[in-house]
Amino acid sequence: MLTFDNRFLRELPGDPEPHNRVRQVRGACWSAVMPTPVPAPSLLAYSSEMAAALDIDPVALHTPPLLDVLAGNALLPGMQPWAACYGGHQFGNWAGQLGDGRAISLGEVINRAGERWEMQLKGAGPTPYSRRADGRAVLRSSLREFLCSEAMHHLGIPTTRALSLVATGAPVMRDMFYDGNAREEAGAIVCRVAPSFIRFGNFEILAARGERELLQRLVDFTIARDFPEIDRTDADRLHVWFAEICVRTGRLIAKWMQVGFVHGVMNTDNMSILGLTIDYGPYGWVDNFDPGWTPNTTDAEGRRYRYGRQPEIARWNLERLADALQLLIPDSSTLDAALAAYDAAYADEATRIFAGKFGFNHWRDDDAELTGELFALLQEAEMDMTIFFRQLAVFNVNQPDINVFRDAFYREDLRTKFTPAFAAWLERYVRRLQQDAVPSPQRVAQMNRFNPCYVLRNYLAQQAIERAEQGDPGMIMELLATLRDPYTEQPGRADFASRRPDWARHKAGCSMLSCSS
Ligand code: AMP
Ligand code: MG
Repeated sequence: MLTFDNRFLRELPGDPEPHNRVRQVRGACWSAVMPTPVPAPSLLAYSSEMAAALDIDPVALHTPPLLDVLAGNALLPGMQPWAACYGGHQFGNWAGQLGDGRAISLGEVINRAGERWEMQLKGAGPTPYSRRADGRAVLRSSLREFLCSEAMHHLGIPTTRALSLVATGAPVMRDMFYDGNAREEAGAIVCRVAPSFIRFGNFEILAARGERELLQRLVDFTIARDFPEIDRTDADRLHVWFAEICVRTGRLIAKWMQVGFVHGVMNTDNMSILGLTIDYGPYGWVDNFDPGWTPNTTDAEGRRYRYGRQPEIARWNLERLADALQLLIPDSSTLDAALAAYDAAYADEATRIFAGKFGFNHWRDDDAELTGELFALLQEAEMDMTIFFRQLAVFNVNQPDINVFRDAFYREDLRTKFTPAFAAWLERYVRRLQQDAVPSPQRVAQMNRFNPCYVLRNYLAQQAIERAEQGDPGMIMELLATLRDPYTEQPGRADFASRRPDWARHKAGCSMLSCSS
């Protein structure tokens, strides 16, 4: 038996219109909506950690009634499904009302430990916010969301979680590259889980409509439910709260940079108020190091959401949230202080992380030059980011051997060409380490806590997708088992740590992804 306490519904106004038809929803934060049933649910994968957090026995996920709940075919007592109203800035422009167009929250579970976990189905059918789309999700994108949510969690990166991946048995029509070649694909539903799914856009839509009173209510609700450590009687609570959002966001983005994660669609409706990674769409992982890389074909032109620009974009998004909150405060200067806290939080976390990755005792000002040269080299020589950093701890400073980096190179000609420059850099690096005088075993242990061996490389997710589409979902749980412990080298799992194979370099799903999912 799960206990539900649906505060979002209880404490915030809902849409009075009961019909599930697409519309503008004003004066409300949510609309009641039922998931649309599917013909043939089957469980493809689940997270045992997430099940444990919800006090659910994973065995129960395989059969009704829980399987039906995860497919949108049934509700448990206490569930009250709803879709949230939010707006957002997409690719730099205000887009108006967006909302949960294919996400339906089922309820807020209170577990035995007293934690609040909102359960939300993604792909469970249309809602009043579906605009012109169908409210469904395809297997490939659902599988990617399921695996990446859990992989991020195990990497130690704040994220929404995933409990289950369920095939629906109903096909979904998609034009993957918007080129007129629509085809039927397998449909699936992920049950996402998070303490809160509130986004920057939930506030922006109210400000855009001038719904000042409701905006104040949503701010007070969010502080009370999601930021209990903030004193809600403090006259200055809005500033304290916004500064906290800025700090959390700064730390989050630094962690993305740590592991080479590129979100791909950092629109303000995809920014979590809790500083979680949210909305896994055309995301990707940097293979050969390149700050200009974006996995999102929809973004190929402007590359707004490229790897190296994520810190700047997160700040831009926080500025849009500040614009919305401005409606509640007369004095603009104080929100600028919180935005400065973003810059500081990002810088502090990024230097802590990169000192960790390079094995430095702490970050020194002159490290920017040394590491900057390395990043330029990694890019020019087309070296794999994950393998380079993992091997940097294998590199023996007493008996330097450049061959430990062999697997990091994608191109033999570039390896030959850049070996002298790389060797020269390694000499300087060794001198830098000697200045810290940290014993090697200690340094290596530190580096291995910052440099994952396993990340959800784009081609690995694609292989799991292709097998699942052919009826064999086994690789999903196999990948999850490895990604559960990403900082530890695991026997027999070398395949999951290897660099992108040549066949995947320009393949759809591996280096090119679209928002069509
Ligand atoms: P995204 O870029 O995936 O974060 O989605 C932006 C907006 O489009 C959100 O409001 C989504 O709910 C909505 N959306 C995306 N895909 C669908 C779909 N298949 N059906 C309904 N709404 C969708
Ligand atoms: Mg979204």
